[in-house]
Amino acid sequence: MWKIKIWVDEAGRWPWLWSVVACALCFNPENKPDKEFLKEINDSKKISEKKREELYNKLIQLSVWENPSVFFGVWVVDNYIIDEINIKKANREAMRRALVELLRKIDTDEIDSVLIDGNDNYKFDELKRPAVFIIWWDAKIIEIWAASIIAKVFRDKLMLTYSSLYPELNLENHKWYGTKKHIEYLSDKSKITWIHRLSYKPVKKVLEYKPKLLLHVCCWPDATIPIVDLKEKYEVIWFWYDPNIQPKKEYDKRLDNFKKVCDIEKIDYIVGPYDVKNFFDEIKGLENTPEKWDKCTKCYDMRLRKTAELAVELWIKEWTSTLNTSPHKDLVKMFSLWDKHSLQNNLEFLKIAFRKNWWFERSVDYTKKHNIYRQNYCGCIYSDTYPGGRVILNNNK
Ligand code: SF4
Repeated sequence: MWKIKIWVDEAGRWPWLWSVVACALCFNPENKPDKEFLKEINDSKKISEKKREELYNKLIQLSVWENPSVFFGVWVVDNYIIDEINIKKANREAMRRALVELLRKIDTDEIDSVLIDGNDNYKFDELKRPAVFIIWWDAKIIEIWAASIIAKVFRDKLMLTYSSLYPELNLENHKWYGTKKHIEYLSDKSKITWIHRLSYKPVKKVLEYKPKLLLHVCCWPDATIPIVDLKEKYEVIWFWYDPNIQPKKEYDKRLDNFKKVCDIEKIDYIVGPYDVKNFFDEIKGLENTPEKWDKCTKCYDMRLRKTAELAVELWIKEWTSTLNTSPHKDLVKMFSLWDKHSLQNNLEFLKIAFRKNWWFERSVDYTKKHNIYRQNYCGCIYSDTYPGGRVILNNNK
């Protein structure tokens, strides 16, 4: 006669950490645990940790005697498998393996039914008849409570073995469900541990998070390669600010080409003002100094000041500029100006010399490949290579 009822429950489906554990359990129909003990068993969520451990220890004892009154199988599916196959399938696997463990200990011809907490309707080839899935809620089923106690305590105990590895997780007192505390903890990406479930949305989001970077773009050819490389690490906001390009049709041509590449690279951008008059005011008296000298320092300063102001306005902490790509610019002066504006505005400057690693040469290749216009003078009418010579203009033509 079939008389064994098997009950299956799991622990650890919802935390953002570590494994899911399942327990399949049945009482020995010919040697049931004594009634007094059964009266003590309750839903694992409704009893204290101390009581849970006490009951767990007793259940273990009852399962190892010569004529056991409790049979159970336990299985652990770790977070790597959860990440690979998803929690639902991992949970099924934990239950299946827990059942297999139990089936090895009992006479399978005696099985009446397998009852599982939940509504997942998993199929198990190992069973002669399909398992029955029931949402127990507050039903008073002692066996399911016993299974849940074993699964929970087993999981908690095993997880505690990671305490010395990750003392910052305070595993003794925290089970790392999706609480506010856990969200706060994850605000620092470097705190994600090897036992975190990386496929869980909040953890995944932290891993995929890219800080924002405001990148001042002085011209597209200089920006091509840094832009492509920076996209890997940052959510880059492009700021086109080339306020003194003359004549205006040259400015428009450069801006059009910038927009063309933004389309190719699918980049969002902000266009700064065309600011020739201010430029003339800033460099008054320095017009005839050669490139890299004081006039250019003023020019860098004007662009960097505006970019730093925008970074503050947009609440973006990190910033940099493609000005440093061209070997025609003075890197030391630019870096010192960047330091000045970062300090004044409480910003962090990404100090990368874009001209390294052949970035300049790579940008030449990129512009050729995509047929992007490449200018042959710096921009203002005082550029050493300005085609019209050093003609002083006082308007925007
Ligand atoms: S030469 Fe270039 S860097 Fe120097 S002031 Fe003119 S536009 Fe600015």
